[in-house]
Amino acid sequence: MATDQEAGFLHIGVGTLDNIGIFDILRWWPLSDYKPSGINEYGLAYKLKNGQSGLARAIFTEAVATGNLSYKFSTPIKSVKDHGAILEVTSRDGMSFSANMMICTVPLNVLGDVGFEQALGPLKLAAARQGRVGLTSKVHYEIDGKFLRSWSGTAYSGKGLIHAYGAGTTPAGNTHVVAVGAEAEQLHPEENIEKTKEAILHSHDMDIERMVFYNWTKDEFAGGAWCVFTPGFASEYLDAL
Ligand SMILES: Cc1cc2nc3c(=O)[nH]c(=O)nc-3n(C[C@H](O)[C@H](O)[C@H](O)COP(=O)(O)OP(=O)(O)OC[C@H]3O[C@@H](n4cnc5c(N)ncnc54)[C@H](O)[C@@H]3O)c2cc1C
Repeated sequence: MATDQEAGFLHIGVGTLDNIGIFDILRWWPLSDYKPSGINEYGLAYKLKNGQSGLARAIFTEAVATGNLSYKFSTPIKSVKDHGAILEVTSRDGMSFSANMMICTVPLNVLGDVGFEQALGPLKLAAARQGRVGLTSKVHYEIDGKFLRSWSGTAYSGKGLIHAYGAGTTPAGNTHVVAVGAEAEQLHPEENIEKTKEAILHSHDMDIERMVFYNWTKDEFAGGAWCVFTPGFASEYLDAL
């Protein structure tokens, strides 16, 4: 059984007690007031009114309004070539873009899917090959009543969901619970709803009204949820990245 402190680390790292590096824990743990319940207390106390998407849209709208932004969505990049003074990016559908400077924000776990010709140093390539922790799904469910409104729980290794918490009340007066998957026993909700329900009920008995989920591990543009380094990764690769 995990201790309270280990449960806090597992919630932050959503990996296993062996593959979560201390680097990210050191950042999140003080922000959580050095206690396992802190991440939910502070994370849920301060929310963006219009959500993360609302913030991104507001920044984007403002940037477009300057008239100085050209953009292209839904254009996955296949390769990046370094020609010396000019960099050339080619999309999967064959379009090509050139510039003398580029910023690459492709996440670590899918960086290796882009073909970099001379444009990425050996350390960055090695970091991309190694990847990071956080191969997980996220499951949101609405449950009957308010009795789990202030509840949170960790199940290690559980039955596929490592941590769950009451995140708010729905318009119907029910509780919205958010759960994250366990890397030790990966859950793919889209493949098995019964197993997903079993994982939910393993942490606490409840009446599930409905659920929605997203499998971050299978997202070809993410390759996992939030970034948590493995032990030794930060010392080896952080400067290069
Ligand atoms: C479920 C979940 C919960 C999280 N919760 C928190 C939280 O509570 N607090 C917190 O601080 N952080 C949280 N994070 C982490 C936070 O979302 C990330 O740290 C942040 O989004 C990283 O920003 P980024 O720009 O580096 O990468 P991303 O936001 O991942 O952006 C990378 C972009 O690159 C695109 N891309 C990938 N491959 C290609 C390609 N080949 N060609 C073209 N485009 C490509 C992707 O589509 C994406 O749009 C969470 C993340 C997840 C998944």
